Amino acid sequence: MKHSHFKAIWTLVFLLLLPSISLSQFLLVPDQVFDGQIMHPNWVVLVEGNTITFVGPPNQLKKPASTEEIRMEGMTLLPGIIEGHSHLLLHPYNETSWNDQVLKESPAERAIRGAVHAKNSLLAGITTMRDLGAEGAGYTDVYLKRTIEKGIIPGPRLLVAGPAIVATGAYGPKGFHDGVTVPLGAEPASGIDEVIKTVRRQIGNGANFIKVYADYRWIPGAASQPTFLQEELNAMVTTAETTGTYVVAHASTPEGMRRAVMAGVETIEHGDGGTLEIFKLMKEKGVALCPTLTAGDAILRYGGWKKGIDPEPERITKKKESFKLAMKSAVDIVFGGDVGVFTHGENYREMELMVNYGMPPLEVLKSATSINARVFHLTNLGHLKRGFLADIIAVEGNPTKDITVMKHVRFVMKDGVLIKRP
Ligand SMILES: [Zn+2]
Repeated sequence: MKHSHFKAIWTLVFLLLLPSISLSQFLLVPDQVFDGQIMHPNWVVLVEGNTITFVGPPNQLKKPASTEEIRMEGMTLLPGIIEGHSHLLLHPYNETSWNDQVLKESPAERAIRGAVHAKNSLLAGITTMRDLGAEGAGYTDVYLKRTIEKGIIPGPRLLVAGPAIVATGAYGPKGFHDGVTVPLGAEPASGIDEVIKTVRRQIGNGANFIKVYADYRWIPGAASQPTFLQEELNAMVTTAETTGTYVVAHASTPEGMRRAVMAGVETIEHGDGGTLEIFKLMKEKGVALCPTLTAGDAILRYGGWKKGIDPEPERITKKKESFKLAMKSAVDIVFGGDVGVFTHGENYREMELMVNYGMPPLEVLKSATSINARVFHLTNLGHLKRGFLADIIAVEGNPTKDITVMKHVRFVMKDGVLIKRP
């Protein structure tokens, strides 16, 4: 065949293929739409490519040609859920203890598990995850993020912390004599120079932000005590901010929380021992709380607590009290359960506990979508709004009436791509 014929045929093939490679368009027709703020009965959502181009009543929409209509009778459409505190590289401690995961599971095994966890999370409607530390797996979270972005494995959009920073001597695994060197669950640092260096190294290696442990139990089983000095925390925050990022802090003691807040961290993780005074300080400084209710609940159950049969453990009673104080202070509460401590894909458990501990379901849904988006600087996510990215899920029923429907996510779209159909 002559060269010119070849060219003509290929041009024809290309032209024939054009309509199918144009932008995919979907009109989503549920019973109601939660837009990240409130519920709208009978609204519809139009998606073109990876963008939401219309949200509103159907009579205000001129449906474009070649749009696939997806009917979702009895369902509620919501923005993709933003998990605020995950560990993709951990799996439940009743399967393998945290110590054994860090000490005995190879980096390859942990990465492969992480890939499975990422897929299960996405199928459960988690389209974005703030992953709070690789727990001894180095920068595997950074590499998971990259493989997801390259389309090699399915998973949520990730914001990753990398190894996280602990004060020298404060973190585990522990219980060995001083002649034994073991890998640690995070990177230790002490002194102004070293904390600055560690922040810079972690950001340079791909961490999106820094996680620091502002307090921890120095001896296994003991109560938590502050770890870093105020000046060390200040230096970490200033260094991170210089690189255009920020710091978040694990803290559960009033003093650890206070130091972290004064240093200028953006969120406090856990906050179990938070007092009204500390929560008010957080509110004043614009620091959000990520309460991780499910982690405490799960760990107590692994320890033998039969929920609903045994009396409520003191730790749960206290956590409920501090959660109520946090709500009273009007501090921003971000949705994040510390998933990884419990099974990936069961993120809904945190929503159920938030309601159980006294938060109205609508507030829980806002926390898991628009509030998390705002606190995590995700300016085009967390809302179903014209111009925002098409990260959208649907559940059967109405989650503002019954939060347990969040357990069964029937539809998932991430970046305009259909992941799960109703
Ligand atoms: Zn955690």
